[in-house]
Amino acid sequence: MGNAAKKLNEFNSGTATAQTPPRGPLGLLRRSIDALKSNHTLWHWTIPLVLVMSFTVDRTVHFLWAALFWLLSIVILSGAKKIANRTRFASMVDDLTASPGVPRWHCLALNLYVIYLGSWLPDIDWLFMQHRSPISHSVGPYFLMLAVVKKYESFGNREWNWKLLCLFGYALASHLLTDIPPGGNVISLPAWLDMPYLAINGLATFVLAFRLQKQRLSYASKVNQRNTA
Ligand SMILES: [Zn+2]
Repeated sequence: MGNAAKKLNEFNSGTATAQTPPRGPLGLLRRSIDALKSNHTLWHWTIPLVLVMSFTVDRTVHFLWAALFWLLSIVILSGAKKIANRTRFASMVDDLTASPGVPRWHCLALNLYVIYLGSWLPDIDWLFMQHRSPISHSVGPYFLMLAVVKKYESFGNREWNWKLLCLFGYALASHLLTDIPPGGNVISLPAWLDMPYLAINGLATFVLAFRLQKQRLSYASKVNQRNTA
């Protein structure tokens, strides 16, 4: 039976169901809505907020540093995987770059966006006419987003919400750590405390994000083992 005849047969017998949405604009709309339902996260909803804020040179520099760190970590982990031949590194690289069921371009775009968000958020203090506030230049924004993801984790794609939180943590850590070399002054702190404050918060954010990623990966591999057993 030809393909067209088969489809017609399915249609007549009623077996052609939701899996074959109509062609044309209506089908495209339905497929887009379905994709949106499973392929959106809490993070998507912060995009309009970030877009209305101005892009400054400082933010662009922070984004480039964060993106560089991200790429470097992928290169280092991929290299370590080859050298040590350990699948643990491979899964960390995959985890940083992909999400099951989500098109690769969408993952890449969101990864870059969340890196931008994390590397930008500490400088939100400019809106309040101050710079290097000890509140935004700390591990605080990570805990804030952790609380949001914990509360609304099932909004959209649960797995992806958590995965992007790790990436957000890495980007935030990169902002705090790259504020150290130019001697960033943290307001309302004694001068001698500025650098240790940025270093401790930057490292703490990195460690927390790294621990979260490791926990998620070991949980996922346990579930996989259980499913294949
Ligand atoms: Zn800053």
